Amino acid sequence: MKLLLCKKCNHIFSLASQERICECNATKGRYIDEINAVYSGEFVVPLGFTNTSLLNAIKNQPQTGLGELFTAFVIPKDCSTFIYEKND
Ligand SMILES: [Zn+2]
Repeated sequence: MKLLLCKKCNHIFSLASQERICECNATKGRYIDEINAVYSGEFVVPLGFTNTSLLNAIKNQPQTGLGELFTAFVIPKDCSTFIYEKND
């Protein structure tokens, strides 16, 4: 799952085929097909959740105590399926 973090407003949001924009309008992105996505903005950080680990964490959600960990990662600046577009 591809997501974007805006370092200006701290909004984190997942992408869809329709363009999504952070709360301060500085960061935006969208899927261009099933796998590939584009994003832009001066304060943007591309993020990924490992889908299988997220699903496992949801399945194993504890009733109390510590939360169940899952894998999230910062996507490299050069990524063939998540492409930074320099606008403006
Ligand atoms: Zn923002």
